[in-house]
Amino acid sequence: MSELRDLYQEVILDHYRKPRNFREIDGATQKANGFNPLCGDRVTVFLLVEGDRVADVAFKGIGCAISTASASLMTEALKGKTRAEAEAIFERFHDLVTGPLGTPAESADLGKLAVFSGVREFPARVKCATLAWHTFRAALEKKEAPVSTE
Ligand code: ZN
Repeated sequence: MSELRDLYQEVILDHYRKPRNFREIDGATQKANGFNPLCGDRVTVFLLVEGDRVADVAFKGIGCAISTASASLMTEALKGKTRAEAEAIFERFHDLVTGPLGTPAESADLGKLAVFSGVREFPARVKCATLAWHTFRAALEKKEAPVSTE
C-alpha cells in the first residue's frame, strides 16, 4: 500500500511541476473561472467545443500541488470526449474523491485519475481536487458566474 502511495505521490508531483495543457486556447468557445478560498487555488478552464465534442481543454492558474495536478490530469482525461462522456468521467471522479471512507474506490476505469483516491481522507483537500472539475462543468454549461468551492 505504501508503494502505491509513493507512486500516487510521484504522479501528482510530476503533474504539479509540469502541468499538461497549461495554456490558453486561442479561439476558445467557452471558459470559466474557479476559486477555492480555503486554500487560495485559482483556475481558469478553457474549452474548444465542436458540436458535441470537447475538442480541446486547457487551463491556467495558481494553486497547490493537488489542485494543479488535478487540473492537469483532468485535461488529459477529458480532451476529445463527448459531453456525455465528460459528464460521466466527472461523476466517477467526484465519487472517487468524495466517497465515504472505508468503501472501495471505484477507480478501475479512471486510469491515472485514481491517484486522487487518497484525497477523500483529507476533506480540506477534496475542494482542491475538485475545483478544476467544477470549473470545467461551468465552462461546458457556459455559466458566467465564477465557481467558488465555498
Ligand atoms: Zn489547494
